[in-house]
Amino acid sequence: MPIDQEIADLVRVIQQARRAVVFTGAGISTESGIPDFRSPGGIWTRMAPIDFSDFLASEEARRETWRRRFAMEETFRKAGPNRGHRAVAELVRRGKVAAVITQNIDGLHQASGVGEDRVIELHGNSTYAHCLDCKTRYELDALRAAFERDESAPLCDECGGFVKTATISFGQAMPVAAMRRAEIETRAADLFIVAGSSLVVYPAAGFPELAKRNGASLVIINREPTGLDSIADLLLNRAIGEILGGAVGVD
Ligand SMILES: [Zn+2]
Repeated sequence: MPIDQEIADLVRVIQQARRAVVFTGAGISTESGIPDFRSPGGIWTRMAPIDFSDFLASEEARRETWRRRFAMEETFRKAGPNRGHRAVAELVRRGKVAAVITQNIDGLHQASGVGEDRVIELHGNSTYAHCLDCKTRYELDALRAAFERDESAPLCDECGGFVKTATISFGQAMPVAAMRRAEIETRAADLFIVAGSSLVVYPAAGFPELAKRNGASLVIINREPTGLDSIADLLLNRAIGEILGGAVGVD
């Protein structure tokens, strides 16, 4: 189908919606140059992810976790919001989208102007760190400077607990508050737009299913097939910036 037709279809679905939710995965951020860790050839297919229990149990695992994070820093620092992020932010600004649920940890929705209170991060955020015990926040620049002096994994100044990026690691429980908010927003939505997720990671992939069961329209924008293509009302195998930017009128 020609892209103009697909954009027109998406415009119509968005116009008909009163309260939409956008759900984003790695695919929206790869358009900003952030690699998809889980994709074939991605970091986690070459390097085993470090399980949360190992992080807790081993100083060497903590060190390795921090080495990997700082090695990624240039990539994260260079990456800014792209056309897809800007289109999502515009839909929030217009009051069409009530919440953005994301599997991404890069903070690019906030960087594109979506208020912190509208972004629900299912896998946390990698752009800052916090103490696992008392939740005191730490900025990465300061942690990096200290780490590069002696490669000891950072400890909390307040309580001595382990400091870790504010992400949800493999083996770590899903964040209860974020999951609850995501469910409430999903149930309240009459349109659920998936952008750049293959919808294979549960429990996250349960949200579009819940939306659909609840009577919402389901739009899936993803280059590759997803686990839920068969229940989508509108399936768009396109780059997100191109199709969503076109539909919203954002460059
Ligand atoms: Zn602490």
